[in-house]
Amino acid sequence: MKILVPVKRVVDYNVKIRVRSDHSGVETNGVKMSMNPFDEIAVEAAIRLKEAGAAGEIIAVSAGPAAASETIRTALAMGADRGILVQSDAELQPLGVAKLLAALVRQESPDLVIMGKQAIDDDMNATGQMLAALLGWPQATFASAIAVAGPGIEVTREIDGGLETLSLPLPAVITTDLRLNEPRYASLPNIMKARKKTIDQLTPEALGVDVTPRLRTLRVEEPPRRQAGRIVGSVDELVAALRDEAKVI
Ligand code: AMP
Repeated sequence: MKILVPVKRVVDYNVKIRVRSDHSGVETNGVKMSMNPFDEIAVEAAIRLKEAGAAGEIIAVSAGPAAASETIRTALAMGADRGILVQSDAELQPLGVAKLLAALVRQESPDLVIMGKQAIDDDMNATGQMLAALLGWPQATFASAIAVAGPGIEVTREIDGGLETLSLPLPAVITTDLRLNEPRYASLPNIMKARKKTIDQLTPEALGVDVTPRLRTLRVEEPPRRQAGRIVGSVDELVAALRDEAKVI
């Protein structure tokens, strides 16, 4: 089984997000960038299938600026076999990325695409679903467990009030949820080995994909500041504050 894992370069989850002064988006200059956490989970899931003997090759793919090759390198250091960078400095939105991934799927013919359920920068939660629709493939979103079952795959999903298990024929698209696994850290020897692995470079034009944005961001705002807390002097004062001041928000 060949697995394609799309990995997005996003602002690191530990960084305090700052809105650009012109309110056009989030500041990314001079900010630590990392692999989207759900994509780390996707890479880990692919590696576990390979370690279990169910998968052969794992290809990590990223679309974005040249620096996105660092994100691919991280996936290679975790255990992916090779990488593909679709280099573009344009603003890439879910539909554009899904079309790029669909073009790569047609080139590479993977049996499975495992990707994050959402990128933590803009929380779109759309690319996997769009990719499955463009390819006409079955999809299982928000996977909390993946198991190979005969010629297909079984995916458990966390839904309101329980678990749902789906059986999918391959090829298919799976998106990962937080509890699917705990991704490994790349060891130093594997980081060294990853330097020798190949990252092919392509462009949207070479793939024949138009990535023109379909959505326009009007304005990005910081959430309202929370008021500082205050220490009350007695239980009576606390009860009074809860009765008179506390609001359900
Ligand atoms: P989104 O729909 O933007 O929330 O992203 C969902 C998933 O799509 C991410 O977790 C990634 O696996 C994948 N993805 C989104 N954008 C990119 C990108 N520029 N390059 C590679 N994968 C991406």
